[in-house]
Amino acid sequence: MENLLEKASASPRALDRSELAELLAWPDAQELFAAAYAVKVREVGKKVSFRGLVEFGNVCEKNCLYCGIRRDNASVKRYRMTSDEIVSAAEWAYKAGYGSVVLQSGELTGEANAAFVEDVLRRIHAATGDGFGITLSLGEQSEETYRRWREAGAHRYLLRIETSSPELYAKLHPADHSWEARRECLRRLRRCGYQVGSGVMAGLPGQTLDDLAADIEFFAKEDLDMIGMGPYIPHPDTPLGKDAALSPRERKERLELGLRMVAATRLYLHDVNIAAATALQALDPEGREKGLLAGANVIMPNVTDSRYRREYQLYAGKPCLDENAKLCRGCLERRIASVGEEINWNARGDSPRWARRQRDGQGRDSGDSCKASANAAGGCN
Ligand code: SAM
Ligand code: SF4
Repeated sequence: MENLLEKASASPRALDRSELAELLAWPDAQELFAAAYAVKVREVGKKVSFRGLVEFGNVCEKNCLYCGIRRDNASVKRYRMTSDEIVSAAEWAYKAGYGSVVLQSGELTGEANAAFVEDVLRRIHAATGDGFGITLSLGEQSEETYRRWREAGAHRYLLRIETSSPELYAKLHPADHSWEARRECLRRLRRCGYQVGSGVMAGLPGQTLDDLAADIEFFAKEDLDMIGMGPYIPHPDTPLGKDAALSPRERKERLELGLRMVAATRLYLHDVNIAAATALQALDPEGREKGLLAGANVIMPNVTDSRYRREYQLYAGKPCLDENAKLCRGCLERRIASVGEEINWNARGDSPRWARRQRDGQGRDSGDSCKASANAAGGCN
């Protein structure tokens, strides 16, 4: 009789909620990872796409109870890079062959921020052209702001839902943070023609395997193009993380849970992009390579100037704090070759899922130049 791994590998979205939970708890983790890796190789090849990550500011209007740069954490020195600094970090990634950047920061709303980001996007786009991917991860915004940024050159957006359970979300956020508003933002992004990414944290207090299985179903329901998820790691200066430092055993278990989520997501969705989150590496120096072998196909090397990195600590133990981007590049190349994978140099690395949606005419991608660039960059891989 066909087992669950075979059933999931044969066709996408083949499992129900309880089977997904069973998959997450698969007794032999290595067998689970190997099955997910085989699906990844079949769907996206033995290739890793790079996104140079620019953490350009840690000023945030929000107060998520788990995050080290939350508004009320007074022990953080706040910074915001200048537009020249952001553009030159993006240009560095472009020249290094990374194929795309992710611009990430704390959440700021208002006209001054919208105009600042719009200007940065136009400058990066002018310096790099259509073939270079620009992903944003700047939190919840109005539809008008998302549209402006899309028109200025951004084409992917990452907004983690954090958990698909509104009840659990309410326990992790102050009362004025709304799960429904965040989900609505995912829909706004789709309407504005972005490739849409979301994800969750695994290992949150009170989270069950059934919650995680529901998260994977949520990814399918929202028809996401890319998934960025990682283990939850407590930060000592946050309400959720104080007195909650992980023991060595808990770190191991949290890492494995993060990897199991990557694997189960690959086995359920098949053709999306999945990032091996930096948080995996915070728990294990080889965490990201393990993520690749569990089904991930995207890595986001940090290209932020090292003098800012210390102030962008979302959780305890952020890796590569003192390494500059050049060193990170060299060490990543070696690590990726060591697991038998190849880097997808100079390509935007759009997901096959998105390419399929474009072909089927459901993409509502408003930018013709965007479509042309995907082709110029060699399609989806
Ligand atoms: N402010 C934007 C937002 O919230 O979407 C983007 C930046 S935010 C720092 C990026 C992600 O960091 C969040 O979506 C959250 O999942 C993750 N994060 C924050 N605190 C974390 C923690 N303690 N452990 C693991 N991930 C964390
Ligand atoms: Fe701000 Fe994002 Fe951290 Fe929440 S997760 S406090 S929105 S930076």
